[in-house]
Amino acid sequence: MAKYKNIVVLTGAGISAESGVATFRDNGGLWEQHRVQDVATPEAFARDPELVQRFYNARRQNVGSVEPNAAHVALANLEQASDTHVTIITQNVDDLHERAGSKNVLHMHGELCKVRCIHCNSVHHWQGDCTQQTKCPKCGAMPALRPHIVWFGEIPFYMDEIEDLLYKCDLFVSVGTSGTVYPAAGFVNAINAYGRAHTAEINLEPSEGISNFAEARHGKAGDLLPVFVEEIIRSGEP
Ligand code: NAD
Repeated sequence: MAKYKNIVVLTGAGISAESGVATFRDNGGLWEQHRVQDVATPEAFARDPELVQRFYNARRQNVGSVEPNAAHVALANLEQASDTHVTIITQNVDDLHERAGSKNVLHMHGELCKVRCIHCNSVHHWQGDCTQQTKCPKCGAMPALRPHIVWFGEIPFYMDEIEDLLYKCDLFVSVGTSGTVYPAAGFVNAINAYGRAHTAEINLEPSEGISNFAEARHGKAGDLLPVFVEEIIRSGEP
């Protein structure tokens, strides 16, 4: 696998769809029957924290009951196939990449299985429910814990690291993302401006950013990604 030295894969909700985790663009802009402004903004948490906690408790429980699919496994295989540097930048808050075996994963929109204290800023791994009556394990404050999720209107995590990765990469693959949520939707434009990387989109349907990709394959990620990964691995074989 010598052809590509630095591969960046951007994943979105579509890669987890075949595992049984709902996307929201495919559901008329609703995320599990909720408008995002009611459950995924700082204003929603200030207005009705119990509703927001219940929403994320349900998402956490759902994700705990599903398994990674062939697309997650293909990316884990890509990372393990050689010494090529592979990074997954995911907009997903589930842990299916890690459970498939990927090690190098940046959750730019946070993680369902973590909560954060709004008083002491400590971050904690979390499996069960979290409520307004749960004390912060570090400072003891209550109410204190919020989902460790980047809500609409908040700044995504790892942006400096991501900028560096986009600058260095020679293959950029976007999987299962509608290309409507920024800043992730703009990554392909940054890469095109650097002019160094091949770009490919793998999505059920053409995304909003389709014209910015050099290559596109449309269909289910679980069908297409294992084939694509196999081609990448073989392209670098002597
Ligand atoms: P999105 O819901 O806006 O778009 C999903 C895209 O995936 C669509 O273009 C759809 O056509 C495509 N898709 C659906 N099924 C597919 C499949 N089997 N194979 C390939 N593609 C498929 O998702 P987004 O662009 O990631 O943005 C949504 C935001 O919502 C993100 O910020 C994310 O944090 C959050 N979200 C996360 C999860 C999760 O963690 N699994 C689920 C829902 C929403």
